[in-house]
Amino acid sequence: MAQTHKITLINGDGIGPEVVGSTRKILEATGVKFDWEICEAGAEVFKRGLPSGVPMETVESIQRNRVVLKGPLETPVGFGEKSANVTLRKIFETYANVRPVKEFPGVITPFSGRGVDLVIVRENVEDLYAGIEYMQSPDVAECLKVITRLGCEKIIRFAFELARSEGRKSVHCATKANIMKLTEGLMKKVFEEVSEDYKDIEAHHIIVDNCAHQLVRRPENFEVIVATNMNGDILSDLASGLVGGLGFAPGANIGEDIAIFEAVHGSAPKYAGKNVINPIAVLFSGIMMLRYLGEFEAAETIEQAVYVTLGRDKIFTRDVAGEGQKAVSTTEFTDAVIGNFGQKYEKMPTKNYKKIVIPKNTTTSGITHRHVSGLDVFTEVSELPDVLGKSIEKLIEGSNFELTMIDNRGVKVYPSIGAIPEKADFYRCRFMLTTNDNEDIHQDNVIDLLNRFGKKYTWTHVEKLHVFNKEQAFSKAQGED
Ligand code: NAP
Repeated sequence: MAQTHKITLINGDGIGPEVVGSTRKILEATGVKFDWEICEAGAEVFKRGLPSGVPMETVESIQRNRVVLKGPLETPVGFGEKSANVTLRKIFETYANVRPVKEFPGVITPFSGRGVDLVIVRENVEDLYAGIEYMQSPDVAECLKVITRLGCEKIIRFAFELARSEGRKSVHCATKANIMKLTEGLMKKVFEEVSEDYKDIEAHHIIVDNCAHQLVRRPENFEVIVATNMNGDILSDLASGLVGGLGFAPGANIGEDIAIFEAVHGSAPKYAGKNVINPIAVLFSGIMMLRYLGEFEAAETIEQAVYVTLGRDKIFTRDVAGEGQKAVSTTEFTDAVIGNFGQKYEKMPTKNYKKIVIPKNTTTSGITHRHVSGLDVFTEVSELPDVLGKSIEKLIEGSNFELTMIDNRGVKVYPSIGAIPEKADFYRCRFMLTTNDNEDIHQDNVIDLLNRFGKKYTWTHVEKLHVFNKEQAFSKAQGED
């Protein structure tokens, strides 16, 4: 007997019920059995006064069913602080945001005929999007970019496994490791380590800005691109523009054993209830769900029927229909796709997909020796660097530290190297221990330093300067030796 799949279904806001309704009808027409548990999230929930926009019944349903098909959710202005979409992704730690970008037959774009067929795999939890931000002074804002070995390894293994499951030959890792050597550099390092376990797949590192450039110049050269959260966010939007825009951009948020399938687009409120919207983005998210569930045949039936509907029959919704072409309604398009079940679009055969299985993380940092060799003390101060430097040197006379430099937004300004950055009243003062090289900082020394410093200046935060296996684990300022 065929399995019945229990799925949490969130219809969503605006055009959500129409595109999810269309997808549901097409999925059911394949004969695959679903038991939909219909749950709420989004605008109406916010309006009822729940600040998360996601009721507990919905959370419990997802915990039970582990698979979600969802329409777009709106955060109505004046209600709630956080997006319900982000809340769902975060509470279920769906660490992989997967966005396939594939040319559709009959949908004419400047890239038509090039065979664009790639997947962006974006880390979905960490990075600047961890949302850890501070105002350091009334005029200085700071955001922590948190990148972990754990997070990098999970997303990179996911990307390689995805490549294998789709029979793809290469994975590019796009980073800004040339500038952010520790954070983006960790992603690159882990990519190089993990790629050793995937000798059957070509592994390429690419600087992210060049990746954006190459995506526009030669998108057909990419198969899978893996990136940290913000880079992946930007690249995936760029990539979806290559194949016809938001109506054609499906997506999935995948965690250890929970997956949320949703289109990239939002609730497009101006089209709500008009029966004109393109359902393909949610439908292809549904196809991704079918493959996640192991229903490969049904996925192929729908995929091919859509290609035939667009490529052979030239049946388009309003967003695609060109000048003089008739646009069909969402429901007409839905019925046309179902009517084409069993037909094949020969020019675009479906790949031989396999179920993706993610192995556990295995890499380690290999750090056996570590100590703290100094402190960076950040301060809000309006003195000129030379005056500040000399004054701090006086304050720390007789302590276990020496002031090795002061910088202003990453550029060394004391001792002067001739740089004259625009003055922002925010400096980083670097103190190194003057005692033995391998000695760890003692807590009392830290307190002594901050007490001396605090006699005259306000410090905003402090960072420890670690040394791991004799290598400095902190970045140098521009101009620092
Ligand atoms: P949007 O809803 O994605 O719509 C922007 C434009 O994209 C639409 O006006 C339409 O363009 C086009 N579009 C979107 N979906 C389409 C489809 N299925 N078929 C054809 N064209 C489509 O973005 P927004 O207006 O910025 O956001 C509206 C609300 O959605 C906001 O509350 C936002 O927070 C929310 N949102 C939710 C999600 C999510 O749930 N994952 C994602 C993004 C935004 P034309 O006007 O050119 O026809």
